[in-house]
Amino acid sequence: MTQTGNRLKMLAAVLSFAICPVQAENLVLSNLNLIDGTGADARFVDKLVIKDGRIAEAQIKLDGEVTRIDLQGAWVLPGLIDTHVHVARFPDTARQAKLILEQAVRGGITAVRDLGGDARALAEISRALHSREWIGPEIRYAGIYGGESLFADQRIAALAIGFNPGEAPWTQAVNRQSNLGLMVAASKGAGAAGLKIYGNLDAELAAALIQEANRQQMQSWAHATVFPAGPGDLVDAGIDSLSHAAYLVWEAADEIPGDYAARTRGAWQDTPPDHPKLVALFKKMADQGVYLDATLYVYQAMHRVIPPEHAAWAADASAWGAEVTSVAHKLGVAITAGTDWFEPAEGELPHTHAELALLVEQAGLSPMQAIVAGTRNGAGALGILHQRGTIEPGKAADLLVLNSSPLTDIHNTGDIRMVIKDGVMLERD
Ligand SMILES: [Zn+2]
Repeated sequence: MTQTGNRLKMLAAVLSFAICPVQAENLVLSNLNLIDGTGADARFVDKLVIKDGRIAEAQIKLDGEVTRIDLQGAWVLPGLIDTHVHVARFPDTARQAKLILEQAVRGGITAVRDLGGDARALAEISRALHSREWIGPEIRYAGIYGGESLFADQRIAALAIGFNPGEAPWTQAVNRQSNLGLMVAASKGAGAAGLKIYGNLDAELAAALIQEANRQQMQSWAHATVFPAGPGDLVDAGIDSLSHAAYLVWEAADEIPGDYAARTRGAWQDTPPDHPKLVALFKKMADQGVYLDATLYVYQAMHRVIPPEHAAWAADASAWGAEVTSVAHKLGVAITAGTDWFEPAEGELPHTHAELALLVEQAGLSPMQAIVAGTRNGAGALGILHQRGTIEPGKAADLLVLNSSPLTDIHNTGDIRMVIKDGVMLERD
């Protein structure tokens, strides 16, 4: 072959590598205990078939290469979904986030909702994931909306370096004159799947944002209290999910302050978690299918990193948050597993596993209910339940394979044999 011919061949090879996604494997897993994520009882199956990265019917005919693995009684459940992470708020954001997410997927987390980060980095990560240059959890992220005063916070300004505070497409200060249609469209254009309705907004503005999100087919996600908009205002306006169970305490307050800084001053000691106003709220949330992203882990963990004199409130918020999550769960509210801090120390598992354990040990969910929280409900809160979150034919093959049963001990979600993301097997490091 001529030199030119060789070069062309090489170029073709390089181009096809760059353009074609790596073909997902055909996989047949056999002899396993299946927890499908729907809440149905675990069952033994002799065959679970994965074709082109998706769960297939067991009888399907497979062409091409097939990898067969006898799991010898291992436990298989959907990959875990963390509904509250922040992976893109560091210097050198895209690189850091990729490292965190890669560790996370090897630790069993196959989808996350990022509730506040630099959308430029998050969009690049999504691109790398979807073009299969890289393997990480599926990621859905939010544009942040709040009152103007909120954007004086340096931590929020750091999410949009190069923009005036509150003026980036994904971090936006809202007032009565704002063109909400344009602002929501800007977040959508930045790749966000939902709005995070964050702080310093009254009920009227919060409701207008939720309505605009619906109109543009975006998810609406809020902190449980937005100051002064309260949990009931958000639920009445049609919010899709509320974060931080501890902030539900304001539903029983006579008045809600207008500043997000008041979040540390909840009347946790004086408010019974089954206060009639909370019971009424939870019934409504259950009826409307509003998810509760309880975030128990972060309030517990605060003790370890913040000196107690600066975070005395966290102990009350933590205990009360767990109790109120239990009340909400009993009244039919769908709980999700969000950590607000999932990135592990080196060699450790993502804290999402700890969140599942807290849901069982402190909020009274059964191990099966906690697994549903961490899989199906998580996918619902991310708006991807049609594609992920349960093990059913047609859905993406995002699987967590365990050596031991998470139903006898929820901590066994950390006893990982392997993780499968979109049909691709990942061994634990
Ligand atoms: Zn957060």
